[in-house]
Amino acid sequence: MADNIKGLNTICTHFGEIQDEQFKGAVSPLFMSTSYAFEDVDVKRYPRYFNTPNQVALSKKIAALEHAEAAMIFGSGMAAISTALMAFLKAGDHIVLQNTLYGGTYNLVTEEFHKFGIEYSFTTGLEPEDFEAKIKENTKVIYIETPSNPLLTITDLDAVAKIAKKHGLVSMIDNTFASPVNQNPIDFGIDVVLHSATKYMGGHSDILAGAVAASHEHMERIFQLAKNFGGSLSDYTVWLLERSIKTMGIRVRAQNENAMEMAKYLHVHDDIHAVFYPGLESHPGHELAKAQMKGFGGMLSFELNNDLNSSLFQKSLRLIKSSMSLAGVESTVLSPTLTSHSLLSAEEREKQGIADGLIRFSVGIEEVEDLISDIEQALETVKAKSRTVHSN
Ligand SMILES: *Cc1c(COP(=O)(O)O)cnc(C)c1O
Repeated sequence: MADNIKGLNTICTHFGEIQDEQFKGAVSPLFMSTSYAFEDVDVKRYPRYFNTPNQVALSKKIAALEHAEAAMIFGSGMAAISTALMAFLKAGDHIVLQNTLYGGTYNLVTEEFHKFGIEYSFTTGLEPEDFEAKIKENTKVIYIETPSNPLLTITDLDAVAKIAKKHGLVSMIDNTFASPVNQNPIDFGIDVVLHSATKYMGGHSDILAGAVAASHEHMERIFQLAKNFGGSLSDYTVWLLERSIKTMGIRVRAQNENAMEMAKYLHVHDDIHAVFYPGLESHPGHELAKAQMKGFGGMLSFELNNDLNSSLFQKSLRLIKSSMSLAGVESTVLSPTLTSHSLLSAEEREKQGIADGLIRFSVGIEEVEDLISDIEQALETVKAKSRTVHSN
């Protein structure tokens, strides 16, 4: 394999792969050893040192996908996020975080950081000045997530990277919703890129994994902590994840297209009150998304008209499944109020613009016509029910 390949799908398919010199097989062989020789070897290998053959192969692929010098694979997105954060924060330090964050990250910060003496502030908005306003003497890290969950708000990568540089901070992004197919934050000057590889990298709702990509210098610091925290991923799953990423480019591009079509369809639908998708011109982050994303992604959210029962609608879907997770090849929906954002108070949800009936839609690779007819039949069921209720 030539190491100078650059095209997305070629990187997905080949970059970093282990050549099977012995049998000339087409894919990376799987090495399951947890025990490697220490004598007469260049590298002391051990899975928790993140340096087994399959870990190294996949790390190279993920680094190439994120335009980073190096990458590491973790046992979950939260293992990646917590390890990366703790690598740059110690007692007495402060971090500025975007106010709209993935629930697990929010819980990590609000439930654990005080135990380590780490201070934190959430922004009040997403404008560059909202981030700058929270920076203090002891701030070390600035943390963003764009597009965000569940309203797909867009944060300015370039502006945040500049603020971080100006104040000597490490900038970090959770790039899970975009995937490396649609957004490469390192190109905009962001330092550390985090992924729940459970989502678009895995893509088939059967792998739990995480990844971090950054410069050699930053990765070395993360590695020093990671080997002590021990959040590595089993080599079998590492190998499966390498297999999954081979199709990530074509999957995500198909999901971009499907999501755009679904967003347009919902946007003009009489029974739909609002649609949140950065690909729509009506979305407040549309221009910014156009400037910093290569595709608008496979995630959107929408609200039904007021008199229509959102949970009955979700229960009435037959093809589109209800799911706590996202980004699989199958389309799924979720109610943020009942799941991911249930721990926020009603006021906090309202402040963030998350209506009780909001539906988050992870668009899969099915045919759009089939998704539309599923939504149509579910809407008919909900309207028929509301007619009987009204006539009673
Ligand atoms: C799922 C998710 C995570 C957490 O990843 P796990 O693999 O579940 O640990 C973090 N950030 C975002 C945006 C996610 O969607």
